[in-house]
This record gives sequence, C-alpha cells and structure tokens, in this order.
Amino acid sequence: MAAATLTPSITGKHWIAGRWRSPINQHFESYNPARVDEVIGVFPEATAEDAESAVAAARAAYPGWRRTSRIRRAELFDNLAQLVKRDTNALAELMARECGKVVSECKAEVIEGLHMIQYVFGTGRMPMGDVLASEIAEKDAFMRRKPWGVVAVVTPWNFPFAVPLWMLGPSLLEGNTVVFKPSEDTPAVGQRLAELFDEAGFPPGVVNLVHGGGETGEALVNNPGVNVVLFTGSYDVGHRIQQLSAEHYDRITACEMGSKSAVIVCDDTRLELAVTCGIISAFKSSGQRCVSAGRILVHEKIIDRFAEKFVATAKRLHVGDPLDPGNFTGPVIHRAAVEKVERYNELAREEGAKVLLDGGRLTHGAHAKGCYLAPFVYRIDYHPGIRCIREEVFGPHVALIPFATDADAVRIYNATEYGLSMAVVTEDYRKMRFFRDECEYGMGYVNLPCIGAEVHLPFGGVKKSGNGHPSAAGLIETVTHKTAWTVSHGTEVKMAQGLSAEIED
Ligand code: NAD
Repeated sequence: MAAATLTPSITGKHWIAGRWRSPINQHFESYNPARVDEVIGVFPEATAEDAESAVAAARAAYPGWRRTSRIRRAELFDNLAQLVKRDTNALAELMARECGKVVSECKAEVIEGLHMIQYVFGTGRMPMGDVLASEIAEKDAFMRRKPWGVVAVVTPWNFPFAVPLWMLGPSLLEGNTVVFKPSEDTPAVGQRLAELFDEAGFPPGVVNLVHGGGETGEALVNNPGVNVVLFTGSYDVGHRIQQLSAEHYDRITACEMGSKSAVIVCDDTRLELAVTCGIISAFKSSGQRCVSAGRILVHEKIIDRFAEKFVATAKRLHVGDPLDPGNFTGPVIHRAAVEKVERYNELAREEGAKVLLDGGRLTHGAHAKGCYLAPFVYRIDYHPGIRCIREEVFGPHVALIPFATDADAVRIYNATEYGLSMAVVTEDYRKMRFFRDECEYGMGYVNLPCIGAEVHLPFGGVKKSGNGHPSAAGLIETVTHKTAWTVSHGTEVKMAQGLSAEIED
C-alpha cells in the first residue's frame, strides 16, 4: 500500500503591493527531498499578469523609497536582523525540510543571511560616494551613486535564504525596489523571508514576492519595467536571461552561475589537512554548492596515499535525515537530480574512470523515501576530451586527477568553461602565488576547502560561472550607477582644461 501523503502545512501566497494574495490558478507543491511523500506547502504559480502587477507595485513604490533617508532604510534592516535572530532555529529547520541540507548547514546559512543584513545596516551610515579634486579651485566635485529603479531577483534552491539576501540587501539599501522570485523547489523558505520583510516594516511595494518556475522568471525578465535582473542559478538559465535582457536598452544583468571548482593538492602538503579540504569541498551539501569541488587535482607523487585516506574518510560519512545533527549530508534535491548524478557516474565509467568508491542510490531503511545518494569517487587521467571532469554535476561525484608539475595542474584546472572557486593545499608560498596568479576563478583559498563565503568579500566567478558582478557586498556596483556632481562656488564660470568661458558680444 502506498504511504499516505502528509498534509501540506504551508499555503503559498504572492506578496504584491503589501498584500498577500493566493490567486486561484496553477499551483505547484514543494516536497521534502528526505521523504518525498511529505508536502511542505502548495504554492500559486504566478501568471504573466501577476508578474506584471508585482513590477508595477515595485515601480509605484520606487519614488517614495528612493527619497526615504538612507539611514531609515538601513534601520529597517536592523528590525529584520532582530527577527532573523528570533527565528534562526525555525528557519534552519524549515530549510532542512524543504531543501534537504543538514540542519547545521542550514543554520550556518541563516547566519550568513543575518551577516548580510547586519552588513547592510552598518553600511547605512557609511559614506555613499567620494569627494574628488577639481582642476578649478572654486569647484567641488563628487561621485554620488544613484539607484537604477526596479530590481528582479531570481534565485536557486540550494541557498534559499542567504543568496536572496545577498541580492535584496544592497539593492534595497541603495534605494531600489524589488520583485523576488524564489526557486520553485524552495518556495516556503522564500515566502518566510518575505514575511519577515513584511514584519520588519518595509513599506508596501518595496519588496514583492511572486512564486513560480521558469515561465514566471521569464515574465519578469521580459518586463520592460525591470531595470536590473539579479540571477543566481545554472549557466543555461543565466545565458537565456542574458539573451532576453539584450532586448532591453537600459537593462543591467548580473548572473552568478555554475562551476566545476577544484582543489589542488601539492606534494608538500599535510595529508590530513588536504583530505579534510577535499572532503568538505566535494561533499558538503551533497556536492550541491555552486562552489563544490567536482575535481581534486593531486600531485602524482602522493595521489595513492591521498586517495586511500580520502576514500576511507568518504566511506565513513553519514548520509541521512537532514534534521539529525549526526549526519554529514542529506539527500539531493529531487529525483531528477538523482538521475542526473547517476548519468554522470555512468559517463565517468565510460570515459575510463577507475572507480574507488561506488556511490549510487541509497534506497533501503531510513533512505527508502528520499532522494539519497552515496559519494562517488574515481581516479582518472586528464584528457581534454573527457566531459565528466569539465561539466557541472552538482552532486556527490568527484574525480581525483594526477598531475606532474605545477604548470600541468594549472592547465588541467583551467580546462573547463567554468571559473568560480579553487583551493590550493601547500606549505610553499611560491606555489601559492603561482596558482593565485595563473588559475581562473572568482574565489581562491589556500589550505582551506574551496567553499566558505563571507558576505563582505567579493563572491562571483568568471567564464561560464559569472559575468563579473559579485554578489553580497560587491553588488553595490551593479545596483547603482555612479554620477559626477560638480558645484562651483565662484562668481564667474571657470572651465577645466583651460576651455575659455568668454562669450563674444
Ligand atoms: P536553475 O538555473 O535551474 O534555477 C534558478 C532560478 O532560475 C529558479 O528560480 C528558476 O525558477 C529560475 N528560472 C528557470 N528558468 C528560467 C527562465 N527561463 N527565465 C528566468 N528564470 C528562470 O538553478 P537551480 O537548480 O535552482 O540551482 C542550481 C544551480 O545554481 C547550479 O548550477 C549552481 O552552481 C548554481 N548556483 C550558483 C551560485 C553562484 O553564486 N555562482 C550560487 C548558488 C547556485
């Protein structure tokens, strides 16, 4: 007999112009990937008209919000911080149930979101431009930032709380208004975040939420009332958004996308440290971080010893219920993700992998109802034609690749179309510098895993991973434009470059 489906606990609503609405149209369900018979909630799918109303609400709220004191705008983030502190555990639990990350990781994500809010609050009283020199003594010159207007925020499922805050925070502080579309896989966390913005006192229309998937996302991107699209997700979707946005002459598009990140282990390394860096990089969040390492490049002199310890450690990892604090990782996000990882495990075999730890589905006992996968570890020699070491898998799937020289390691590291994150494990400062300068990445780490963002550092990648608009604190450059503002205190006109101000009679 099939297990009874658990009653959905959350009723999804759009939040438009300060009103919560649950329109009767297409609905979709959000599931717990640890037990797919548990429905977290039922959510309305926004139509093009809903998206249009949300953009219109954001446009209408923009003049009032832009003219609100910057410090007042920042203070609302202080209210929000208090609410997030109050609800940290509940938010982490909801996130663990909806996206399957273990609850300790979810709590760390809530704290990361809180750090972004605190950063925004603190920034409210910081300088908002520069005072610059002028060639003319009587002139005062300034660089002042202006908001663009309406920002559409389209986010992925794997960081359903922190990534939206990386984008909402700087956008709102600088005076933009926002339409936020969370992932259709984590709408409950997205809605909870919007409810906190509401409770914190953000005025109607300043933040709007619409639920839905790709069609809703496209309706937002196609709306000419949107000035900036902030997207985080896969390359294919980001590329589509860039193409659609090219039709709009006044559109800024910032896309943070996928990766094939890597850890490089040199022959002088402390082996235990290198193994810890590798395990965390490959298997935290079941390998479903944008920065997860799908590749560990290991010097050929030590790869046998490294592989032995790495596999022994990977075997010991507990994969199970995300709410059990004893587990290292939970399930992957859905059945389609299980199938995708399995296809890449198979592809690796076809491309000549020597399988060291055969992952695959976990289907018995506590794993029976969930989307569980065990780690898949293989050794493979680099060859430019091999796809499994170039393409993003987004799951517990990692290649150990031997290299002979540092120059080889750089060549192998750069031989992917992505460039998000890398780590080098070495005691040699010359090697650190070489890898720092020669590898293509947005975030680099030494003697650390290649995961681990902090909100005040730039976060973004190059190549297919991003178009050079970092998220979090760095986003100010994307959600504002710089203006020059020049004031003369003289009683006659004086021009720069010796340009004459005389006018013939
Ligand atoms: P996804 O690209 O499938 O979806 C991301 C968002 O885009 C969702 O909200 C989705 O509804 C929306 N969307 C889908 N089609 C759309 C369209 N045609 N127009 C507009 N919006 C559309 O990604 P995902 O599966 O949610 O997340 C995983 C991916 O995100 C991975 O590739 C991962 O590397 C990447 N990611 C990148 C970063 C980063 O900062 N670089 C951070 C987290 C995740």
